[in-house]
Amino acid sequence: MTRRVLSVASEVVPFIKTGGLADVAGALPGALAAHGWDMRTLMPAYRGLVKKTKAKRVLWASDDLFGGPASVKEGALDGQKVMLLDAPHLYDRAGGPYGNPADFTDNPLRFAALSWAAAQIAQHGLTDGWTPQVLHAHDWQAGFAPAYLRFADSSVKTVMTVHNIAFQGTANAAMLGQLMLPFDKFTPDCLEYWGHLSSLKAGLMTADAITTVSPTYAAELMRPEFGMGLDGVIAHRSADLHGILNGVDDAVWNPETDPAGKPYSAKSLKGKAANRKALMAEFGLKDIKGPLAIIVSRLTDQKGIDLLADTIPTFIAGGGGLAVLGSGDAALEQQLKDLAKAHPGKIGLRIGYDEALSHRMFAGGDAVLVPSRFEPCGLTQLYGLRYGTVPVVAATGGLADTVIDANPMAVADKVATGIQFHPVDRIALGHALQRLLVLYAQRSLWQTMQKRGMTQALGWSTSSSKYAALYESLIA
Ligand code: ADP
Repeated sequence: MTRRVLSVASEVVPFIKTGGLADVAGALPGALAAHGWDMRTLMPAYRGLVKKTKAKRVLWASDDLFGGPASVKEGALDGQKVMLLDAPHLYDRAGGPYGNPADFTDNPLRFAALSWAAAQIAQHGLTDGWTPQVLHAHDWQAGFAPAYLRFADSSVKTVMTVHNIAFQGTANAAMLGQLMLPFDKFTPDCLEYWGHLSSLKAGLMTADAITTVSPTYAAELMRPEFGMGLDGVIAHRSADLHGILNGVDDAVWNPETDPAGKPYSAKSLKGKAANRKALMAEFGLKDIKGPLAIIVSRLTDQKGIDLLADTIPTFIAGGGGLAVLGSGDAALEQQLKDLAKAHPGKIGLRIGYDEALSHRMFAGGDAVLVPSRFEPCGLTQLYGLRYGTVPVVAATGGLADTVIDANPMAVADKVATGIQFHPVDRIALGHALQRLLVLYAQRSLWQTMQKRGMTQALGWSTSSSKYAALYESLIA
């Protein structure tokens, strides 16, 4: 018999995306169907989404969801279904899902409402009779959902997934009543977090199981330098903590079918050479004899972008080139602009978010740089592997779990797929870039590495079977 799980997320591909969470939430339903799990996904109906997805069928309704009427409507885009929480007083706004440029001040309320609606659906079902056995909450935006179910003594099992512990959903404790949370649970072993509320902590304390998106990040989260204040909570729940790697959605990220450029495969990389040429022209790059590195990233402190100014000039002097696509922190954007200006024809920069361009970059680049200070899983190194765009990564979180460093043993054993460096500083990154130049110059070794990465099992089948097994264990 098909089993049922309700996935709750603030962003889902192809409906809206600001980061890796959306990729994961979008890929899970398809991947879990193969294991007999019917996953339905609930997300907010941000401005324009009801129309875009032609959402009509009403599956749930409330006269008053935290200050206004709300309904859940089923829509679809590109063949993928979604349940949209249509509550105009909370979500019908200009800007990104969380605000733009600053976060909306009522975000605690907006996402507590999403969690509340999810918990209501979990307990009482949809109008078509569908009720989940498991509720799967993603990140702080869904963190109160397991808590609402726990406080209601619901029998629905809950999973809380941490995609990035840096975002914790803190809120003023005075909002307790407004967010429909019981006052007697405002204690350090439940809702209280340094005198405030944190929806992520609430989820971590009340969910039946916790997952995060790589085994190494799971271990790192118990350490103060990675747990960001929640390390004690994670350590306390370590018996229920699972590290499950994200996968790559093969329908979206596949160099053999990607319309972004000339198709190519591990059997023949010819198309990739043409894509490299086109990418260089697009970024105004000339005469790059060494590796063309790419970066596709949010520009934040987490991503180690500030290390480029000190390391890239030497890389360029050694024959390398760089194409960057990203947006975020204004100071980092300026640093990159200065760097690009100082190296015309060798560094290309696009500030902004551009999904189609990101595909062209993976299709045409030689290497992808991911110098993150922490990285729960990371997707761009996986896309790099899939596209023969060799990853150069910091040895942290999911980056450490997915890239096999080209150290002498790994090269001798023919298992290397990229370059890892540690610690995350300019000396280690500079050294990694030197290694990149040397490896790239050894053409046959380089191509072997490219092809090895391209043929690795990076799809969702392994990871989705782990989620399915976790759900099974909870309802057993
Ligand atoms: P995070 O979720 O921390 O941002 P991930 O590596 O897990 O990092 O996921 C980032 C996702 O967002 C990837 O799919 C990446 O290709 C995409 N991405 C990041 N910045 C941009 C951008 N400026 N334009 C297009 N895609 C981007």
